[in-house]
Amino acid sequence: MSTLLELLKDGRFHSGQALGQALGVSRSAIWKQLQLLEAELGLVIHKVRGRGYQLASPITLLSAAEIARLSPESAWAVQVFDSIDSTNAQALRSVDQACSAPFLVLAERQTAGRGRRGRKWVSPFAENIYYSLVLRVDGGMRQLEGLSLVVGLAVMRALRECGVPGAGLKWPNDVLVAQKKIAGILLELVGDPADVCHVVLGVGINVNMQSTNDVDQEWTSVRLEAGKLVDRNHLVARLNDVLASYLERHQRRGFSAIQEEWEQNHLWQGRAVSLIAGVNKVDGVVVGIDRQGALRLNVEGEEKVYSGGELSLRLRDDS
Ligand code: ATP
Repeated sequence: MSTLLELLKDGRFHSGQALGQALGVSRSAIWKQLQLLEAELGLVIHKVRGRGYQLASPITLLSAAEIARLSPESAWAVQVFDSIDSTNAQALRSVDQACSAPFLVLAERQTAGRGRRGRKWVSPFAENIYYSLVLRVDGGMRQLEGLSLVVGLAVMRALRECGVPGAGLKWPNDVLVAQKKIAGILLELVGDPADVCHVVLGVGINVNMQSTNDVDQEWTSVRLEAGKLVDRNHLVARLNDVLASYLERHQRRGFSAIQEEWEQNHLWQGRAVSLIAGVNKVDGVVVGIDRQGALRLNVEGEEKVYSGGELSLRLRDDS
């Protein structure tokens, strides 16, 4: 991380002279570095004659040591990147390089953050959480059943603990507050799911983001909901511990042990929805989920079950 950013992160004013002295460079060198921070990281820096430079909003940077201190229940090795294409992509590269799982990849920003089916996840610098946990799975398919729903539940619980009591679930793997998206989940798998494989549990959570023109659906953040700046290290640590405990339960007892709790927190339970798979659409009413995490819909009086990564749920206007 740039030393200049370390000095500015408190959100206070710092004079060009003081910054220059601290870094042992000229004021014009500081000016150039500030412009770079703005251009490369999209940071907004106020420049006020006579007072100096100030970040528009103070930031707390991610710290592997702080996260380890705050989440004793989940002793995962943590890698923190200032900037990366995608934490999931990095996690997959690390698996390729024989990094030993479990381990966690975090980044201050993603330049190519991804959602499902090649969609983009908006990932500005130092505002949100971009989190990819890698697990080695050698227990066969049962270990993967409903896993993305389990991650959603853990994210929802961590958010509730951190000031967002209205967080709830949308099948299969979004976390919403009312209709607004606050977190997304993307699982990616390498290896043979019937034998030994690695699964990347990718999570994006909007934490301190207050504005963006780049998200093309309704969204919110912890800060917008809780009305205060949130320490991302603390939220990552809570997520680690909550997730570790759900994963342990899932591994021991399977998804069926979590099914009921998931359903109780499904915001669209009983709602009229359309289920979309490419160009196909099915209208129905949400009955719940089954013991594998598949969606149960009442379609014209008959219960049908749907699963698979290509499915999207939308509320119907009449619901
Ligand atoms: P689905 O119901 O199929 O999951 P989705 O639109 O929620 O649909 P995802 O793949 O889960 O799709 O997430 C990607 C989408 O999320 C993007 O197309 C965009 O609309 C939205 N998005 C991108 N970045 C963010 C963000 N930081 N916060 C909230 N929403 C975002």
